[in-house]
Amino acid sequence: MSRPQQITVLGATGSIGLSTLDVIARHPERYQVFALSGFTRLSELLALCVRHVPRFAVVPEASAARTLQDDLRAAGLSTRVLVGEEGLCQIAADPEVDAVMAAIVGAAGLRPTLAAVEAGKKILLANKEALVMSGALFMQAVRKSGSVLLPIDSEHNAIFQCMPQDFARGLGKVGVRRILLTASGGPFRQTPMAELAHVSPEQACAHPNWSMGRKISVDSASMMNKGLELIEACWLFDAKPSQVEVVIHPQSVIHSLVDYIDGSVLAQLGNPDMRTPIANALAWPERIDSGVAPLDLFAIARLDFQAPDEERFPCLRLARLAAEAGNSAPAMLNAANEVAVAAFLDGRVRYPEIASIIEEVLNLEPVVAVEDLEAVFTADAKARVLAEQWLSRHGR
Ligand code: NAD
Ligand code: MG
Repeated sequence: MSRPQQITVLGATGSIGLSTLDVIARHPERYQVFALSGFTRLSELLALCVRHVPRFAVVPEASAARTLQDDLRAAGLSTRVLVGEEGLCQIAADPEVDAVMAAIVGAAGLRPTLAAVEAGKKILLANKEALVMSGALFMQAVRKSGSVLLPIDSEHNAIFQCMPQDFARGLGKVGVRRILLTASGGPFRQTPMAELAHVSPEQACAHPNWSMGRKISVDSASMMNKGLELIEACWLFDAKPSQVEVVIHPQSVIHSLVDYIDGSVLAQLGNPDMRTPIANALAWPERIDSGVAPLDLFAIARLDFQAPDEERFPCLRLARLAAEAGNSAPAMLNAANEVAVAAFLDGRVRYPEIASIIEEVLNLEPVVAVEDLEAVFTADAKARVLAEQWLSRHGR
């Protein structure tokens, strides 16, 4: 039998990281954990190391690394602890690694994910912000290295499963009319508009169907998540923004659909559990058990659909504008959103102000071409400064 595939999990302590380790642990003959990274929950990272015995672990700074290294030794493990972005890039690109789960949240995941791409690894992409920020460069790097790029986002994994295998020839050539990207509508789908100024971070994070990290939970409430996913879909499937339609589907059973020119519409359904797309991508093109319960259509009984209301969800409109503008606009959208969401989670801004901050940043900063990674990070940094200026101007 061939040796188990060596897997690096970037962002192992997060929601996607833990689901990935759950699937991996079900198939020890197929997969072995090569390296894990954590950022804040370091005692949990230690527990994960004890459970999965990786060759490397990565933490953000040197003193945390010393503590973890001592604890690992005391537990009888020879796992080596590396530090910071350099350590993340090292475990992403190590010659022994077969596949990298990119599950760090936000812009912080871009460099390590690109390091994995450049090293030609199989990429399991959860970190949508990386692709949103640097789409053209990212896809260029994928083509150059021959990396296999598999989407973990449940919608994009669904679309991937519903696409013909040769979709890279171009959607027009393979008979695809459009992509239907489903969205639950989040916890505020029906909240009276006047109440939105008073919703708390806890309410925003209480997603009706999915259990996720706090940043993506707020993005789901504002539908910025769907906006980022629209941009993500355009890059993954070489679609124009006008070819991606957002459909609110509150049950989160259909994870997305592909509409063909002959009138056929293919959908992927399943319980809302990220272990399904994770197992799909890990084993692709084979199928493995994910631990997810079979879908009970009789218990679900009905599926509903509605068009999104851009007045209720201004972030979706802003993301579509950024998708159409291209160039530096998506990186600025993403960075402004990261600052605004962090401030909302800190109790410094009200929920509707998330969209106000992003809109101001996009209006103030002209869109420029991004020919290299430096230009992406420059756009990101400028947007962060402008968003911080909004906060200080409003006394936050
Ligand atoms: P999370 O907050 O639960 O976990 C984030 C992980 O990133 C943690 O391991 C954390 O330690 C690490 N991290 C955070 N900041 C970091 C930094 N500055 N440097 C290095 N590491 C850092 O988030 P999540 O819900 O697991 O989401 C991870 C990614 O997957 C996000 O990009 C999200 O959009 C995407 N995603 C998540 C889900 C989901 O169901 N949770 C679904 C689709 C896509
Ligand atoms: Mg998603």
